[in-house]
Amino acid sequence: MAYAYDDQNIFAKILRGEIPNDTVFESDHALAFRDISPAAPTHVLVIPKGPYVSMDHFTQEASEAEIVGFMRAIGEVCRLEGVSEDGFRAISNAGRNGVQEVPHLHVHIIGGRPLGRMLA
Ligand code: 5GP
Repeated sequence: MAYAYDDQNIFAKILRGEIPNDTVFESDHALAFRDISPAAPTHVLVIPKGPYVSMDHFTQEASEAEIVGFMRAIGEVCRLEGVSEDGFRAISNAGRNGVQEVPHLHVHIIGGRPLGRMLA
């Protein structure tokens, strides 16, 4: 499958510094910033710096260094936000059925309160 990346999406603009963000963590391969409309006391979005639409696009085309860097960023955010001990939820919505609003891969890290059972 060919993946089309729209470089005018909001997170691409954040990566280019065209839109401000509340950065929590940054590394060579990832940026993490607070969601503008938080669903819980901790709600951070972790994105790769490369132009990937979704998890399947990312894992097909990204280098191993990008994939490792992105996964490590998720762990760093959990530790920095203090949600590792009590737990958190990591969600990545993709495409139409996943109701993905912004077409740049992102993982929501949500925590800071009991979240309840949710699979769909
Ligand atoms: P999705 O539905 O694509 O998984 O989630 C997109 C998320 O991006 C939403 O939770 C939304 O609140 C957040 N968001 C949308 N625009 C902005 C923005 O300009 N800045 C930040 N920090 N978050 C945004």
